[in-house]
Amino acid sequence: MKSGRRPLVVGNWKMHGSRAENARLVEEMIGQYPPAPAALCVVCPPLVYLQDVARLLRGSAILLGAQTVCADAQGAFTGEVSAAMLKDVGCSYVIVGHSERRLLYRESDQAVARKFVAAQSKGLVPILCVGEQLAEREAERTFEVVARQLEAVLKLASMESLASAVLAYEPVWAIGTGRHASPEQAQDVHAFIRAQLAARDAKIAPLTRILYGGSVKAVNAAELFAMPDIDGGLIGGASLKADEFIAILSAARAH
Ligand code: PEP
Repeated sequence: MKSGRRPLVVGNWKMHGSRAENARLVEEMIGQYPPAPAALCVVCPPLVYLQDVARLLRGSAILLGAQTVCADAQGAFTGEVSAAMLKDVGCSYVIVGHSERRLLYRESDQAVARKFVAAQSKGLVPILCVGEQLAEREAERTFEVVARQLEAVLKLASMESLASAVLAYEPVWAIGTGRHASPEQAQDVHAFIRAQLAARDAKIAPLTRILYGGSVKAVNAAELFAMPDIDGGLIGGASLKADEFIAILSAARAH
């Protein structure tokens, strides 16, 4: 285990599945779940299936997360779901600031920061996604973009809150493209993120889990997870296949 950080593997099902497909997927996952994995495991189904999947996961070691949350607590926010509601149906984690939310639904850094705080205020663990687009990487602006996204959250949330939160570095050019960052590319950014945290609080920085996300598969998971600042993965496409996802979970060993 890296500085006491237990690895974590999170499956983001995005807008996929049906009640029948979810039941099959969860049954297969539970059937293949290793007896004592080094990593914690979370799945994030679409909102409408959360309660169903909570029931399917009962008695297993797999935890439940949501893919997004409303920054506000309650009221006239048609179509939105609050952190308290997610908690109420059995979620313990929630993804905030996924690049698809930032880009397709125009969620600003500030909106993401508010979601982060809302999640924590109700006892959910936020999984804060940060990452650059291809043009930004090519313009050598990766660190600048990631620092800006992180800074927005640190303006609203305390450093102490980072110790129990999860960060996920997800280069946008690697999400769903089949083109993952090399372990060295990913490690560079993870080390940068940890250094940003350490500059604010040297005690908290080594406690914060930083996941890598972007075309993680069973074939590349072990080499990514072996890097010193990579504490597991946020998995999209490969989390929809039980054998692939469980193989990724098994690759997240203590190094
Ligand atoms: C994601 O959805 O966050 C993701 C990383 O997707 P994929 O693994 O399919 O690239």
